[in-house]
Amino acid sequence: MKRVLLIMLILIGLFFVIWTSIFGNNRLIAMEITALKYPGRLELQEKDGQIIFEELRDRAELNYRSDSTFPTPWYLLKAISEKESLYYFFAQPSKLTNIQNNKSVELTPDSTSVLNKYLEKIHKDSPFGQIKNWDEVNKLFPRMAKAKIVDLETGLSFRVQRRAGSLHADVQPLTREDTEVFKAIYQGRWSWKRRAVVLEIDGHKIAASMNGMPHGQGAIQGNNFPGHFCLHFLNSQTHSKNIDVAHQLMVWKAAGLIEDYLEGKTDKEMVEIALTALNQNDPQLVILTYVLNKNITYLLNYMEKISGLKIHSLTREGADNIYSAEIEWYELGTGSNYREKVDITVTRGEFGFLISPDQIAEVIVNKRKLH
Ligand SMILES: [Zn+2]
Repeated sequence: MKRVLLIMLILIGLFFVIWTSIFGNNRLIAMEITALKYPGRLELQEKDGQIIFEELRDRAELNYRSDSTFPTPWYLLKAISEKESLYYFFAQPSKLTNIQNNKSVELTPDSTSVLNKYLEKIHKDSPFGQIKNWDEVNKLFPRMAKAKIVDLETGLSFRVQRRAGSLHADVQPLTREDTEVFKAIYQGRWSWKRRAVVLEIDGHKIAASMNGMPHGQGAIQGNNFPGHFCLHFLNSQTHSKNIDVAHQLMVWKAAGLIEDYLEGKTDKEMVEIALTALNQNDPQLVILTYVLNKNITYLLNYMEKISGLKIHSLTREGADNIYSAEIEWYELGTGSNYREKVDITVTRGEFGFLISPDQIAEVIVNKRKLH
């Protein structure tokens, strides 16, 4: 009896030794992915986590030439083992960079596809679209193709067909019901205001920007839509071959990456974006582009009346942080037009340039009617 007990103890001891030699004290407990603007975190299934974890442990680490900014969109992978928690960031799932030592590991195609499975899920559950260049969208969404448009802010959606356009897509609501939804999104009033939308086609979700004004030719029978409207994407151009700042802003917003878009901008571009924010009546963008002081509340209130704001000129004044702008806008409600000169001060904030709301607020208070 004693011998049986002894053998059992030896076996248990042996099993323990083998177990720890295989898994060490560094067994994976959990692995999870966090994505920019993705609500919550996504935990990998145990066997998937194990595949990635083993590769991270066994494959050679390469020195990573670090950039000052994270690539976008980025993902964060957290591996929680018994010994430690390791953090990796990546833009492409084939290359993970260890944040602690700034070294990266290239994963095999098999592991990459394991990670890709989770990225697809993140992508599917996110309200945001992917940033795709117009050249690519032009092929994914050819003339006569049908697709769904989802308005980011309201979540309302309707179907459209692309009928024309070569520098961007000219589309029309498919049916009378689709036009009703389109109108509801614009609160019943045709408008040139751009809105952040996501175009869904063949499983793709693409960040886009639309305007709310039917114009030009319309050819779908009975859709109750007098013309077409424009749908813009990254680097798409207007009919007059310009890149439209407001459309581009909305594209980035539709991708959930507005802060990234603002990050690299020059002071002059920021002035332009800050004025566009007023014209777009976009509070989120106002908060991101102006210095937060009491005058910003004045802009937030008044901008609801601004429509068709044009920047006639924008030049740097003697002092290098002041821009002189000439702007014109239409005031909703009164129907008045205003054209005013304003000096705009730009300061460098923690994350980039910021615009002072003070002079713009003053000009709005003292504005003189044109006609
Ligand atoms: Zn167009």
